[in-house]
Amino acid sequence: MTPDLDPTPPPYLVGLRLQGRRVLVVGGGGVAQRRVPQLLAAGADVLLVSPEVTPALEGLAGELTWAPRPFEDADVDDAWYVLAATDDPAVNARVAELAEGARVFCVRADDARAATAWTPATGRHDGVSVAVLANRDPRLSAAVRDDVLDALRARRPDDTGDLGEDEAGVGVPGVTLVGGGPGDPELITLAGRRALMAADVVVADRLAPRELLGELSPDVELIDVAKLPRGRSTSQEEINRVIVEKARQGLRVARFKGGDSFVFGRGYEEVLACREAGIPVTVVPGVTSPIAVPGVTGLPVTHRGVAHEVTIVSGHLPPGHPESLTRWEALAGLRGTLVLMMAVENAPRIAEVLLAGGRDAATPVAVVCDGTMPGERTVLATLGTLAEELLAQQVRPPAIIVIGEVVAVAHPERFA
Ligand code: SAH
Repeated sequence: MTPDLDPTPPPYLVGLRLQGRRVLVVGGGGVAQRRVPQLLAAGADVLLVSPEVTPALEGLAGELTWAPRPFEDADVDDAWYVLAATDDPAVNARVAELAEGARVFCVRADDARAATAWTPATGRHDGVSVAVLANRDPRLSAAVRDDVLDALRARRPDDTGDLGEDEAGVGVPGVTLVGGGPGDPELITLAGRRALMAADVVVADRLAPRELLGELSPDVELIDVAKLPRGRSTSQEEINRVIVEKARQGLRVARFKGGDSFVFGRGYEEVLACREAGIPVTVVPGVTSPIAVPGVTGLPVTHRGVAHEVTIVSGHLPPGHPESLTRWEALAGLRGTLVLMMAVENAPRIAEVLLAGGRDAATPVAVVCDGTMPGERTVLATLGTLAEELLAQQVRPPAIIVIGEVVAVAHPERFA
């Protein structure tokens, strides 16, 4: 039936305040599994009646009352709201009939037309609840719900007077450290993207996903840290100064970095600088490259029966450097996965030290360059051949170097 010819009047939408109120759920299968968490989130006192329940529902047993038995008429007595979700239409019909008699609204999983209530596709963002009922077409409902949520997420807090503040502090002046992920603009988190789009000023690193910067509103000030004067510590001091100064002007500052801000990202220095200046700081974690870059190529950093540890090490200083904090000889004694970052230049020396410390020359190595970006490629080697392969393949940063048997698991054709 086309929607226009449907003689049924539209439903009357309402928000039920279920806190502390009994909700009866009959049936413990897939439908209940999807509804119960939302009922619990609303604070409902859920009575779940079903001889058997899915493992996921069983995991929620501590938060609800589970009666492991068939439905009994008296179950409806104290309920404010009822879900009939068994796979037996006769049971659902009986539940609905009793609910009707008690003048309690009842959702039916098997027969929407016979039900007195329908479950909308729902979502929540920034204190706004969205519920969509689209002519009993659940896919359309979900799609419209997603469109509305996307629109809410994309909205800059300026757009309305009220939508600004939220739990993540995105709408308030101050600094948000945003981990941008390894490079692919799809690999930023939802919270990260939102903080970025809500900012008045974006202070971006060289490795922060560049494509996302193209989506910033034209009135957003973009400060490209890669263009600040060279020299490690001076530029970090300059960044600290800039973010504090902009936040002091009452602006929302997004400090936008590659990967995660706290994995060799100097993020905590910025947190300390803000705290010292009395500026509120929020941290949005990012998808970090030592795990995600191998991951997108199908290389797991741990694997059952192969690696029980993964060690992430910066190779920006060579072994033996007076300022190095790494005990490379100790790392040589480990059996698990070693992930090297910022190590292209020093890899030959690092390989030497690992070999001298007892790691096998046949240990497989994968070097992933420009991970998740258009030029992504993987160079395979062994610990013994790493130095020559890096040279032969002209490997340039940024690259992640993974050392260990997990590489053989992912590349059996190369490492039989
Ligand atoms: N905070 C970042 C890491 C910054 S240090 C994170 O959590 O990922 C910079 C090093 O990260 C680079 O030298 C390289 O080793 C690694 N790296 C970051 N992005 C990368 C990418 N897309 N491909 C390969 N290596 C990457």
